[in-house]
Amino acid sequence: MRVDQRIDKGILVSMTKNLLNRVTGLFTGLRRNADSTNTSEHTPASRIIPEDIHQISRHDLNNNALSVVYNLNDAGHEAYLVGGCIRDLLLGQKPKDFDVATAAHPDVAQKALPRARLIGRRFKLVHVRFGRELIEVATFRAGHEADNTSKSEHGKQNAAGLIVRDNVYGSITDDAMRRDFTVNALYYNVNDHSVYDYANGYEDIQRRVLRMIGDPQARYREDPVRMLRAARFAAKLGFEVEKKTAKPIPELAHLLKDISPARLFDESLKLFQSGYGTEVYHQLQRFNLFVQLYPLTDAAIKQGDTPAEALLLRALQNTDKRVQQGKSITPAFLYAALLWYPLTQKLAQIEAQSDMPTMAAFHEAAKQVLMTQVSCTSIPKRFSATIKEIWELQLRFPRRSPKAAATSYEHPRFRAAYDLLILREQSGEDLDGLGQWWTNYQKEHKPPQRQPRRYDKPRNEGRGRRPRRDNRG
Ligand code: ATP
Ligand code: MG
Repeated sequence: MRVDQRIDKGILVSMTKNLLNRVTGLFTGLRRNADSTNTSEHTPASRIIPEDIHQISRHDLNNNALSVVYNLNDAGHEAYLVGGCIRDLLLGQKPKDFDVATAAHPDVAQKALPRARLIGRRFKLVHVRFGRELIEVATFRAGHEADNTSKSEHGKQNAAGLIVRDNVYGSITDDAMRRDFTVNALYYNVNDHSVYDYANGYEDIQRRVLRMIGDPQARYREDPVRMLRAARFAAKLGFEVEKKTAKPIPELAHLLKDISPARLFDESLKLFQSGYGTEVYHQLQRFNLFVQLYPLTDAAIKQGDTPAEALLLRALQNTDKRVQQGKSITPAFLYAALLWYPLTQKLAQIEAQSDMPTMAAFHEAAKQVLMTQVSCTSIPKRFSATIKEIWELQLRFPRRSPKAAATSYEHPRFRAAYDLLILREQSGEDLDGLGQWWTNYQKEHKPPQRQPRRYDKPRNEGRGRRPRRDNRG
């Protein structure tokens, strides 16, 4: 039977079965396995949650992800839907993406799947593309102690515990223990539609608790990005971070300096551009993580002589609203707002120490601020160029002569720069009515013919591809 026929049939059977299940539900209950702590052997799930209990509707499963699982099964490999998609479905939310976990090694999985590509070196994965959608297929991972072969070939941890290569494969039980939070270690079995729970994640979802699997300290040392993920899920899910999971974060936050700036840039997009950035910001501050990502912004906020935090919060509120409305967003705008006061402070410092003309001093200040930032989170060139343009327009906006104003108005970044100007005023900067002047100017002047800008592209700009995962634990 073709995969799409199987998916349709699956839904039909599901509806009939659901009805039956409800009748027999009383007798089904939860099966428990006595030994829920065994992580080294392939044991059954510690808990199997049948469909009539978890009540995930098959209509909500992603057909592309299902076809990947079916194809792997047909080729004789164990495979499941896993992770955040199952967590979100149990919470009645729409998953951002669907991930698959399989027993097949990456090169074997690639051969079994049409349109599949092998990616990553330190964390090998298979990507299967369906138009704009990407399904990520990960082979079951095991703890590095399970690696009996050459350690340097498959798995590698540095002296501080950081995992620098993570290609040690194992069983589904091993895999569950290698995942970050209990609520992310749930596996959906497409054959009997049950959910396998190895880490008590189902109960934690009911209780709305975010709990790290294993020893939180060691798990953060293995992969410090898990601390950012804790802050993100606490914000996204509104879950309480369990005490032992929360406690080590402020002390270990500094470990983020060992993570590549490129990976941290990807993470910063997930943190701030997923529609709950304002809450993420509060969680990052609570855990002492914000300073690790944005040291200059954090210093400006703590100095308190600029409205740096007010501006950031307004920019985040704007971004959250735009994401919810499905409008375009660009990392360049957020970064321009994040670094605006560090830039003005640097500019003032350079001007005080030299007799450079303002524009030359501005370029020097922008260079220095961006250089410091990219040592924490990289900023791809296309965004840093836009950030500088948005800033430069802030310096040009006070020039209100007809010629100067027309030049600013025609600039491709005018709209983003105007938005920042308004946010600066709303955050408490006294700009002598400049925002209103520009609002009136736009009413009185026809919009110029601008080149299409990145800022106008669909919401996915900067988020289209799945972030890299090659260095994770
Ligand atoms: P969302 O997609 O909503 O951001 P998610 O939990 O699905 O959340 P992904 O980044 O898509 O997050 O990762 C998929 C799954 O892979 C996670 O649910 C988790 O089980 C596992 N995972 C991802 N990153 C890590 C990590 N750094 N350490 C351990 N497990 C991880
Ligand atoms: Mg996901």
